[in-house]
This record gives sequence, C-alpha cells and structure tokens, in this order.
Amino acid sequence: MSEIIDIFECQRCGYCCQGETTVSLDEDDQKRMVLALGLSEDEVRERYWRVTGNVVQMKIVDGHCIFYDNGCLVHLGRPWRCGQWPLHPSILNDVNNFQTIKASCPGINQEIAYEEFCRILKELMAEQGNIHC
Ligand code: SF4
Ligand code: SF4
Repeated sequence: MSEIIDIFECQRCGYCCQGETTVSLDEDDQKRMVLALGLSEDEVRERYWRVTGNVVQMKIVDGHCIFYDNGCLVHLGRPWRCGQWPLHPSILNDVNNFQTIKASCPGINQEIAYEEFCRILKELMAEQGNIHC
C-alpha cells in the first residue's frame, strides 16, 4: 500500500508561502481561522486579511503570507487550499501541472516518474478523498 511519503514529504522551505498574493479563503476557511486565532472576526479581518470585493486573502508582509515565520503560525486554521498543496488533483490532468508544481515544491519526490506519481496519488485519493498534507 502506498503512502504520501512515497510522493511527497514537506521540506518546510516555505516557498509556497512566499509571493505577493495568497490563496483566497472561502467562508469555512474564514470561520476556521477566526476560531483558531481566538479573536473576533473584525480583529482578524483588520490584522490579517486583505479584502478585495468578495475576495478574502491573507495579507502579505515582506513578500510572504503574514502567517509565515519559519512555518505556518495558523496551521490548524489555515485555508483548505494551503492544506491541499502540493498534491493538487490538477496534477492528474496534465503532466505540465506536475512539472510546474514539482519545480516549485522540493517536497515532491523529484525522482519519481509522472505515471507512477499519478498512480500513487489516485490510490491515496481513492482511500482518503482530496489529500490534505
Ligand atoms: S509544501 Fe513544498 S514548497 Fe511548501 S514548505 Fe513544503 S516543501 Fe516547501
Ligand atoms: S496560511 Fe500558513 S500555509 Fe497558508 S500561505 Fe499562510 S503561512 Fe503558508
């Protein structure tokens, strides 16, 4: 039986938390983050979120997500898209997605062939649904 570690092991490099934008938070993400931080929604919105119309993202500080400091400071309350990374189902649709994600995430097994990677990811998803890392 395959395990996640066969295709991915996070190196805690923080590359996925860098950049000038972050994933967006859906309503469940927002509620979970508010609970995890133990603050009021207004405080969380003021301190941590960048709100553009209906789109809620996390603020960026010094080129990275405001919660990044040698790891995720809101791990249990992080958005589901953060938890899903890098084992995104789109990898299964297109080898180019695999190559792009593999190039940006050193935690992806760099030796494994695309077909074998997909075989294992499909097996894991059949057991667990979408994988949260
Ligand atoms: S998921 Fe990938 S890019 Fe993000 S910290 Fe882990 S190894 Fe680095
Ligand atoms: S919430 Fe955590 S995992 Fe997501 S981008 Fe920010 S620091 Fe990274």
